Amino acid sequence: MQNTTSDTVQKPAVCPLDCGDTCSLNVDINNGRVEKVRGSHANPFTRGKICAKVATGLVEQVHGKHRLTHPLQRVGPKGQGAQFEKISWQQALDKVYTAFQKSIAEHGPQSIVPLCYGGPMGLLSSNSMNKRFLHKLGARKVDTKPLCAGVSGAAYESLFGDVGGIAHNEIRQSKLIVVWGNNITACNLHLTKIIRDAQKQGTKLVVVDPKRIRIAQHADLHLAIMPGTDVVLGYAVAAELNRLGALDDDFIEQHVAGSEAYLAEANKYSIQMAAEICGVEPAAIRQFVSYWSESKPASLTIGVGPERNRNGGSGIRTALALPVLTGNIGPEGAGVCNTDGFSPLDDEALSRGDLYKGPNDVISILDIPDLILEGSKPSQGAPISSVLVSMHNPVASHPRQANMQKALAREDLFVVGCDITMTDSMQYADIILPAASHLEYSDITPAYGHAFLQRSIPAIDSVGEALPTTEIFRRLAERFGFTEAEFKDTDEQLIEQAIDLKHPAMKGRDMSAVSTDAALDCSVDGYGNITPTLLRGQNPTTPSGKIELFDEALQHECEQGLPQWQPMISQHYFTLVSPSSEYRTNSTFGGVDGHDVDVVLEMNPQDAGARQLIDGQTVRVFNQVAEVSLPLKISDAVKRATVYTPKGAWLKGNKYTINALIPGHKADIAGGACYNDARVSVEAG
Ligand code: SF4
Repeated sequence: MQNTTSDTVQKPAVCPLDCGDTCSLNVDINNGRVEKVRGSHANPFTRGKICAKVATGLVEQVHGKHRLTHPLQRVGPKGQGAQFEKISWQQALDKVYTAFQKSIAEHGPQSIVPLCYGGPMGLLSSNSMNKRFLHKLGARKVDTKPLCAGVSGAAYESLFGDVGGIAHNEIRQSKLIVVWGNNITACNLHLTKIIRDAQKQGTKLVVVDPKRIRIAQHADLHLAIMPGTDVVLGYAVAAELNRLGALDDDFIEQHVAGSEAYLAEANKYSIQMAAEICGVEPAAIRQFVSYWSESKPASLTIGVGPERNRNGGSGIRTALALPVLTGNIGPEGAGVCNTDGFSPLDDEALSRGDLYKGPNDVISILDIPDLILEGSKPSQGAPISSVLVSMHNPVASHPRQANMQKALAREDLFVVGCDITMTDSMQYADIILPAASHLEYSDITPAYGHAFLQRSIPAIDSVGEALPTTEIFRRLAERFGFTEAEFKDTDEQLIEQAIDLKHPAMKGRDMSAVSTDAALDCSVDGYGNITPTLLRGQNPTTPSGKIELFDEALQHECEQGLPQWQPMISQHYFTLVSPSSEYRTNSTFGGVDGHDVDVVLEMNPQDAGARQLIDGQTVRVFNQVAEVSLPLKISDAVKRATVYTPKGAWLKGNKYTINALIPGHKADIAGGACYNDARVSVEAG
């Protein structure tokens, strides 16, 4: 702890929001209140710099007008403008107990459904006592991955199994860096400096993204492909490399299975054909081919943008295939950024899946609204009569927003909410349990944008009567009469249980290495040796033990043994893309003043001119499902036939946000949400 003024102290913290960077923070505290938030140097990857959304939004999130500080009971209708009255913690716990017991008595514990996601990504807040409680209760099992990153994870696993890739720091060594569908300025900010440093040493940068995002302005080549056409680009580049004799035959022979079938499929896509489908110049694709053939080592960082359409899994698989076919896996500076394998964490010890004794059925989080609306005879499992919405704002973040609103509004559905702020979703709750912010509890937080693990302790006391989620679920467990020792574990004990001391990253280290003073670099062990990863001490964990370009399991499951291209045909001219915002992290900060200034519709000047639309005017954005009004921003960064508005806006008195326009169909693999596969028309408002 460090003194700044006589009354202000500075304390360390960690940002656990759903963002790749997981920055280390310093917060100024005065009289128990957070005054200022800035970056700290405890994490060498984030080096004291943080994004504007946290610097300007976190104080209001913790102390502002939407902060939940007492348990609440709704008095009046559900939905926007709902009224609540304060109740005691004991009353709140009793009411949850009574409602859940009623659900169990009528339909069994499977009628209770968690609608939870990753507001904060710290392991204790997201994956410990809450999961233990739900497992012991026997509540419905829900697969949350279709909401985000499930398609990417399945695509990655299809090629490599569950072996991680390279740490982001390593791309400094690359001669070619490809940023594919990854708006790093908004969601992996600190990667920008590493890339810019590498460029100064002569590294080529290629950005594949429909929009000229900020990092694309500095790229040697920007391929502004139409959303959902990644698979065509990936196949065409592979085929051309093959025609030029530029594939790494020795590497393929030694490490790859299914290349012949893959390349036969790729041969169906010529450069010219890809140029027409993707909407880019043939010369640009040829340049991309040249970079792959001339530059070794090459690395790839791929975001979740490409997964969010009907061709999502296929697009990501063909992108991942390019470093494979060119032998760019294994050597330093070569590979796919993926730090999953580095974290020495034991999720099972924390979440205790063994406490669950119910059926093995799992429902997709995307299907919950339909199942709620199907009432007493749902198409899957028991009727849903109670929902726990925790650390998630489904109204702001799911596709088919109108459906979600209708489902949560079902009169006889009991909704208990657990959150830090009064979100659009909390306004559907019968009972609200106020949760502490991440500045108010201890946690341990891995990252998906670097390989550092960080531990945090409370910087301030809990605001009002809010409680850490671990404590909320400890108290719920006690109220439900769960007497097992695992419901008595303290947060410090949970942190000890979370670390797998046998993990290779912990070799030469003990728990003292997981401290609040410095981030732990898990890409090396305690002796400075590189933690084993793909083709660096670990072989792919696929059925063949090789990198697989043909996937037997996917062929059997959905005829996707090879990536497939499905064209998109619609009566609506525009593809609506809703990427990450520089003002919100998903929907976090959506209620903070000034954090919605980017909620506009961006359109290419030629498309705007053809419709006689002018900058700043209100336009109607609509399809067969819904209609929203947005101010128009004309921008040549946006490709023709696409329109952009960043995700995570709150309703703020409007009937819908753009999530109402997002369709319900699912990606080609893993049942992923298709946020970037919406078709809309735009007219003057
Ligand atoms: S949202 Fe991301 S960039 Fe911003 S402070 Fe948190 S981790 Fe860092």
